[in-house]
Amino acid sequence: MIDLDKLSSILPKVEKPGRYIGGERGRIKKEDYELHFLFAFPDVYEVGMSNLGIQILYDIANKRPDTFAEETFCPFPDMYGLMKENGIPLYSLETFTPAREFDMIGFNLSYEMCYTTVLSMLKLAEIPLRSADREGFPIVFAGGTCTYSPEPLADFMDAFIIGEGEEVNNEFMDLYLRHKRSGSFDRRAFLKEAAAIPGVYVPSEYEFTYNDDGTVKSITGPQLPVRKRFVTDFSNASFPVKPVVPFLQTVFDRATLEIFRGCTRGCRFCQAGYVYRPNRERDRDVLLKQACEIIDNSGYDEVSLSSLSSGDYSEINELVIGLLDTLGEKGVSVSLPSLRIDSFKEEYSKRMQSARKGSFTFAPEAGTQRLRDVINKNITEEDIERGVRYAFESGTTTIKLYFMIGLPTETYEDLDGIADVVRKIIGIFYDVPKELRKGSLKITVSTSSFVPKPMTPFQWEPQNTIEELRKKQDYLKERLKIRGVTYNYHDSRLSFLESVFAVGDRRLGSVLEYTVDRGAMFDSWQDYFRYDLYMEAFEKTGVDPYFYANRRRSPDEVLPWSHIDCLVSKEYFLKELEQAYGGETTPDCREGCNGCGMMKQCYALGNIRKKM
Ligand code: SF4
Repeated sequence: MIDLDKLSSILPKVEKPGRYIGGERGRIKKEDYELHFLFAFPDVYEVGMSNLGIQILYDIANKRPDTFAEETFCPFPDMYGLMKENGIPLYSLETFTPAREFDMIGFNLSYEMCYTTVLSMLKLAEIPLRSADREGFPIVFAGGTCTYSPEPLADFMDAFIIGEGEEVNNEFMDLYLRHKRSGSFDRRAFLKEAAAIPGVYVPSEYEFTYNDDGTVKSITGPQLPVRKRFVTDFSNASFPVKPVVPFLQTVFDRATLEIFRGCTRGCRFCQAGYVYRPNRERDRDVLLKQACEIIDNSGYDEVSLSSLSSGDYSEINELVIGLLDTLGEKGVSVSLPSLRIDSFKEEYSKRMQSARKGSFTFAPEAGTQRLRDVINKNITEEDIERGVRYAFESGTTTIKLYFMIGLPTETYEDLDGIADVVRKIIGIFYDVPKELRKGSLKITVSTSSFVPKPMTPFQWEPQNTIEELRKKQDYLKERLKIRGVTYNYHDSRLSFLESVFAVGDRRLGSVLEYTVDRGAMFDSWQDYFRYDLYMEAFEKTGVDPYFYANRRRSPDEVLPWSHIDCLVSKEYFLKELEQAYGGETTPDCREGCNGCGMMKQCYALGNIRKKM
């Protein structure tokens, strides 16, 4: 255990000491166990506690009688500095055990710009950064969506879990226990054997060679490719009905129900839409039961329905109405945060009014129908008009709109289209009968910048340069000078680095090490993002970031993630890319299978009726 007196002496000096003391309702403690497991989230407590993936895996690991799983989050820079000064290493929130004393540490990687935070946590834990130097220390591995392109962290992770941890973690832990029980734990032997588990990628067992032009020449290793694993019986898959309830207000301060996993829409820029395939719904009765249990166990007054596109749940009306009927009397509201504008239904929108607090968020992504067709965001002007009209008629006065700039084939006409959409929405607001309008209209337009993501049809595309993105942001700033409209945009330098690390290879490891040695962490927090330090690191290590972010990759190229298989085929991605350039859309695959490569799996799940 760490020195608690020392900890108590520094807590009054930091912002939000509640982040560092554990003891919340739902936090688990165990005395007897063989495997001591630490879940590590590379961001601050409030962000990590809102991550559903960690909650699910924490619950599953602790259901094992032989395992005690604990949690840790990255101390915010004020606390991080004081811990270093006082010799307090990274520790777990359940038992204040130093991270380096655990058997295994599992990181969640959901965003490329968390990589320096991962390494900073290892530093604070006094665990060697490189896997090769970690003899006698815990096994450090990672799961989450970034593992579909894991190479920038290849030198630092002992293993990556490809796909859904619910399926793989238990096998990984079983193997660890087998080796531990043998008396003397041989780290190399364990990793060698782990590299044969389907869905486990052990980077030290793989070798990369490079061509003279810097592209990857070949990848060799024991599993080629490493295929993702996924849960097949989603209704009966374990779900945490006794969540840890934070003392502090977190990013999502509410109960969460995961209603389905996967997405059938096929937006061509969206990695989650491909890597979470196939579509799997949780049974409505199971969800109603889980909702009641979570509310009883946690005391939350809001249930949020989580998925990539909540309106696509096949029985969404019945589910929302069932939840409102069952929980409404207890004062519990229901929210659908990821609702597509075209699946917005009048039936339940009116009953959910009180929960929405008068605000609606929609993501048209592109301003013109042409560009929405290129990216396969299958929504029309009419969908947008109908959706916002419903929203205004049910009392909404605040609309948040999300767009992406720098998309493949984008022109300035598409940017003009964003302003046109906003003006149209204002027109609809004033067209709604006065007695239904509940105040003055506020519209917030936010633009993010396109990042080419592995495992999407746009994985071969270059990103716009920082200068191009800035020019587009300035253009939109002018075009959106409209009363009641606020325009926000992402820092294009951060988007540039996100691209570099999304499509990059092992050679980026030295860049990460350089920046972390000089204090980089929390890069996605504006106040801590040190772009100049990254540029210095690229120069010192001789790594060219533009080679990764701004170069069009050839379809024949061996990509740094070619050894990882999300089960959607390369042929399908290439066909989708060609269709994007032709402005052709691909329908939602619930209307008919588009042959993405997972036909065998979809047939077995009953998503498609005919064997293909
Ligand atoms: S195999 Fe067909 S139904 Fe299944 S995810 Fe792919 S396109 Fe959709």
